[in-house]
Amino acid sequence: MAWDFATDPETAKQLAWVDEFVREEVEPLDFVIPNARDMRDPVRQELIPPLQAEVKQQGLWSTHLPPEWGGQGYGHLHLALLEEILGRSATAPMVFGCQSPDSGNAQIIARYGTPEQRERYLQPLLDGKLVSCFSATEPQSGADPKMFECRAELDGDEWVINGEKWFSSGIEYSAFAIVMVVTEPDADPYHRLSALLVPTDTPGIRVLRNVGVGVHRGEAIHSYVRYEDVRVPKENLLGERGGAFAVMQTRMSHARLALATRSVGQMKRAIELMAERAVSRRTQGELLAHKQLVQEHVADSWLDYETFRLLVLRTAWKLDQTHDFKAVRADIAAVKVMLPRVLNSIGARAAQVHGSLGVSDEMPFVGMVTSALTLGVADGPTEVHKVTLARQVLHDVQPAPGVFPSYHLPEQRARAIEKHRAVLERHGRV
Ligand SMILES: Cc1cc2nc3c(=O)[nH]c(=O)nc-3n(C[C@H](O)[C@H](O)[C@H](O)COP(=O)(O)OP(=O)(O)OC[C@H]3O[C@@H](n4cnc5c(N)ncnc54)[C@H](O)[C@@H]3O)c2cc1C
Repeated sequence: MAWDFATDPETAKQLAWVDEFVREEVEPLDFVIPNARDMRDPVRQELIPPLQAEVKQQGLWSTHLPPEWGGQGYGHLHLALLEEILGRSATAPMVFGCQSPDSGNAQIIARYGTPEQRERYLQPLLDGKLVSCFSATEPQSGADPKMFECRAELDGDEWVINGEKWFSSGIEYSAFAIVMVVTEPDADPYHRLSALLVPTDTPGIRVLRNVGVGVHRGEAIHSYVRYEDVRVPKENLLGERGGAFAVMQTRMSHARLALATRSVGQMKRAIELMAERAVSRRTQGELLAHKQLVQEHVADSWLDYETFRLLVLRTAWKLDQTHDFKAVRADIAAVKVMLPRVLNSIGARAAQVHGSLGVSDEMPFVGMVTSALTLGVADGPTEVHKVTLARQVLHDVQPAPGVFPSYHLPEQRARAIEKHRAVLERHGRV
């Protein structure tokens, strides 16, 4: 019987080291570095690299990558346990070399890049020497890439890109972007797009404005970009012409699971804070912890957290068993649907229990609720994932043989009576 929820002692020791390192060394940086990916910030450049060196020394750098790319090739379950600790801090993923969107971009280049592309773009990305951008969403369409319009046409040995992209996060401080462009306008809707590697110092890339999200106006990094006659060599095609759907999928599946595991860390912290407040704050002569409706907030949050965490960990475990994202499509969609819902409900309850302090900018809860809104949209809206989940659940389900459902109680009862008629007759039950 192999079914075990325990962490082996060696991994537990490693996770304990990560937990202390994140609490002591990394979390403080969240307060002095507005954006850990922005290498233009001299404070960031002084404080983050020494911590990255320590992580590398511990053998914990980019653990999601296979050893040939400098990672540890950890399984998804191991990664999930690690990532939920990193989720406590906005800076931690950068310190451990697994920040988004770079980790997903690295996986794309590792899988689809030519040897030259890997040397030029992947290696420095893996070494933490630069950061990158994923430029897909457009002003008129995000959830449906079939509607993308940004074009790239071959002119001699160069692709010439023209069009607009929306929410190209971090393009201003990224060394390059992976840009989704229409190269095959006459192909079927799933084969019109290609992925191009575009260095961001290429002439013609213009940031029209940066858009703030929620309360993080000051760190606005989501750029509205116009590509105007941007020329890149034709060798910058990543993967096949018309093959960008497959490229995007590689990135998304991994990104969705990482987003979920990191949010688990935030949820845990919110529950810890809620519990601490409940046993610290008094009203009407007693602790909040003694009020039954506050107890309900705590209990509901615990239930939401534990069920969500189990779903996430089981999905990671299934991935380790199958090594196939397609085989766990329903599970990943379910995780993505539950993520914003659970983060929002726990964040909102934690804010409520803290009263005015809870909704102020002196506590992290409003940020969590905003984050939940964001996660309901980014990497595919909740509605789309619900449809994916429902389709998977309905797949292979056979229709009932007759007018009534296959488990129609009168029919079941009649069959049971036939099966046990002799006994029932002896006891005068039929
Ligand atoms: C914080 C943040 C960071 C981001 N970073 C990046 C980035 O780095 N690079 C990048 O390219 N993009 C990025 N995005 C954009 C993100 O990928 C898109 O927001 C997402 O794909 C949804 O697209 P949209 O915003 O255009 O919404 P739309 O496609 O306009 O959808 C709007 C709403 O319509 C509904 N809807 C859409 N499709 C369906 C459907 N099939 N069935 C039912 N209802 C539906 C949903 O309610 C949905 O929320 C980021 C977004 C956020 C919020």
